[in-house]
Amino acid sequence: MGGRDVEKVILVRYSEIGLKGKNRSFFEKRLIDNIIKIAEAPRVNKRYGRLVIRLENKNENDILPKLNYVFGIQNVSVAYSVPHDFEQIKEISLELAREMFENGARTFKVETKKSFKKFPMGSYKISAEVGSYILKNIPGISVDVHNPEFKIGIEIKEVETFIFSNKISMSGGLPVGVAGKGLLLLSGGIDSPVAGWYMLKRGVDVNSITFLSPPYTSEKSVRKILDLAQKLSMYSPDIFKCWIVPFTEVQTYIKNNAPDEYSLILQRRSMMRIANKLARKIKAKALITGENLGQVASQTLTNLHSIEDASKLPVLRPLIGFDKIEIIDKAKEIGTYDISILPYIDSCVAFAPKRPATKSSLKEIEKIEQSLLELEELESIVYEKIEKYTFIHGMLQNKSEG
Ligand code: ATP
Ligand code: MG
Repeated sequence: MGGRDVEKVILVRYSEIGLKGKNRSFFEKRLIDNIIKIAEAPRVNKRYGRLVIRLENKNENDILPKLNYVFGIQNVSVAYSVPHDFEQIKEISLELAREMFENGARTFKVETKKSFKKFPMGSYKISAEVGSYILKNIPGISVDVHNPEFKIGIEIKEVETFIFSNKISMSGGLPVGVAGKGLLLLSGGIDSPVAGWYMLKRGVDVNSITFLSPPYTSEKSVRKILDLAQKLSMYSPDIFKCWIVPFTEVQTYIKNNAPDEYSLILQRRSMMRIANKLARKIKAKALITGENLGQVASQTLTNLHSIEDASKLPVLRPLIGFDKIEIIDKAKEIGTYDISILPYIDSCVAFAPKRPATKSSLKEIEKIEQSLLELEELESIVYEKIEKYTFIHGMLQNKSEG
């Protein structure tokens, strides 16, 4: 399209609400980095309040789908960048309008935003003149300022002018990494992958830890966890680490030595302590779970308290107020649902109490825990057997110990 000065680009818009001073350039820098890493954009420029992806010799369709995985972007436009030359601005606007007209659109409106003060015309005049130029050259098209079928957007920035006729919504949120690191307790269920997704969306660099019960759980359970981690890793600009702890020795010991009704809470408290240990090592500042009030016996307020009591770090529960149906819809949308419903379990049913306590007394739990003399030692032993898997943007890299 257009002459030699015209360049097709992707114009990126992000929400500026609450972004001030230092915070703003930190956010922008991170977003640029993430666009380059996740969407493999060749080059990104900052243009006051916008980012511009230079396609170089790539096609916009190679990049657009991947931008959905970059949190922090509100929406994008495939745009044409032109110099500050009104003739060119009119020509490109006309070509875009003609394309829309040929696809069946009949009404339009021109919207101009000018941040380059030295441009000799005002926004209103630009819109009006471009509008009448389009009207004159496309018989059958008309202006509708209230309800146009399409808009021609013109943004005049310091260095260049952008012209576009579309706006594509993206995932919103904050760029992953601006909110520090968090450790997700990733089970094979529906909830925890969704919880991880929501924290990634708030800019948290998420890594995961899972407790399995080999040999009661098979390699298929490992595969399932890795498939879930793979989905989340698509949103991560850096290495996504997925740790798996063989938890069976701790579970067996609790099963054989503590009152059945408390075994679930005791197991969860062990998970909390082990997750805290790993979090300290990787400098994560919070744990994340898929806990949701009232779904199951372990998720009464008293039990959430009894479990969280074993954690020094805050436990973030992004799904706490969600309905199950909302969680399922989100799981389907992000592609984790079909994996989560596979029958491979994260823990042997034999370790689940027959009648888990719905009300737990913390005093009682502490007393029982103190009588479990080998518990601390066993927690260290299983922690030493932890295995680490790493992903880069959805690609499994390798597996290593610890
Ligand atoms: P989910 O659907 O995420 O499995 P759930 O509805 O089954 O959750 P619980 O079994 O009470 O609920 O688990 C609550 C949370 O505890 C999970 O969302 C997860 O964050 C964590 N969790 C439970 N089991 C494990 C496990 N084996 N490994 C890692 N985290 C776990
Ligand atoms: Mg579960």
